Amino acid sequence: MVADLIDDSRNWKASKVWQVFPPDKAKIILALHIPQCDTADTIEWSHTKSGKFSVKSGYWFLKASGENPNPTNPFWRMLWKSNIFPKWKHFLWKIMVNVLPTADNLLKRNIQIPSSNCKLCKDRQEGTAHILRDCQISQRIWSAIMGISTGNSQHIPIQDWIKNFLNFFRKKKEDGEEIALKFISTMWSIWLHRNEIIFNNIHTSPGRIIELQRICYDRAMKSAQRSKEDQISEICNTEDMERKEENSWELGARSTYRVQILVVDGAWKKKHKSGQWQAAVAWKNISHSHGEEFASRVFASTPLQTEAYAVLQAIKDMEWKCSDISIKTDNQEVIRALHQQKKADKSISSIISEIKQRARSFQYFSCQKVKREDVSLAHNLARKARLGTYLS
Ligand SMILES: [Zn+2]
Repeated sequence: MVADLIDDSRNWKASKVWQVFPPDKAKIILALHIPQCDTADTIEWSHTKSGKFSVKSGYWFLKASGENPNPTNPFWRMLWKSNIFPKWKHFLWKIMVNVLPTADNLLKRNIQIPSSNCKLCKDRQEGTAHILRDCQISQRIWSAIMGISTGNSQHIPIQDWIKNFLNFFRKKKEDGEEIALKFISTMWSIWLHRNEIIFNNIHTSPGRIIELQRICYDRAMKSAQRSKEDQISEICNTEDMERKEENSWELGARSTYRVQILVVDGAWKKKHKSGQWQAAVAWKNISHSHGEEFASRVFASTPLQTEAYAVLQAIKDMEWKCSDISIKTDNQEVIRALHQQKKADKSISSIISEIKQRARSFQYFSCQKVKREDVSLAHNLARKARLGTYLS
């Protein structure tokens, strides 16, 4: 779903750029990475023609769903300026405009799903308010973590319920931010566990939700603290336990929980036939026998940039699905850039920055250099996507 939104907006932008610029220039423009993470000046809604495709698509979505996108609205301003993880902003936004991929929303869009039951209780139909607040499991979680009783809230739309709480926390001078993070991390952990149940085919575990919340909250607090202390520093501190080994870049501690292992690769060709694309990226989850995969054509100006985009794509697609991830690439340059961002090639430095920022929201993250033949599954997918023969 996240990928859907990103792809749509990218295509929207692409068609405009192709109209306005000659092909050579259009390619260069489209290959530019648009940072998504730096909170203050990138993710903001405005009516100006800033050229940022995410802005436009966001506005379009808001308009379509009737939510007021006015950037002066204090709630939205607070959300976009806050120090929380980009994926949490995205998550809250999806709830607010009611596009979270819950069973009822998917059915509304005529998307076939195996079961419309709540993944936690298996009893009621899954809707946003049910899964995040009204489900008997979620009620217990809210009570245990936040001391909030949600039993009598069912008549309040979930959007108002969240807004009320966040506005209330914002007014609390002393520990408002901490409580807001606790609140958001609780909601996120319920949703992440719901995705784990689908993705890993496991049973509902309230204990796991509480464990996820503790980890997410801890990370979010550290991240908020860090951005206050040093807005521009790109260097992770020792708290993150960043380990500098030549062939890998790691963050966080491995839990006992299942680590999702993905091989990624990019395909890029300087001279390509008409009808074929210059670049494509792909990933394949090799930790499952039925491992899911992804391949798509992209705009990229060099093989290195394609490779970095492949890593970023894998992260974006997995950050809503798991807390522990290991990415395998055959590109040493990407690993080197993760270690020494300042020395990274200009074409990938902002992609690397986004990779690092998104990586921090996982409990465990690693990016490892492996042999070329070890990523052959992803390589074949990327190649097909570039040639236009990949069927998803
Ligand atoms: Zn339920």
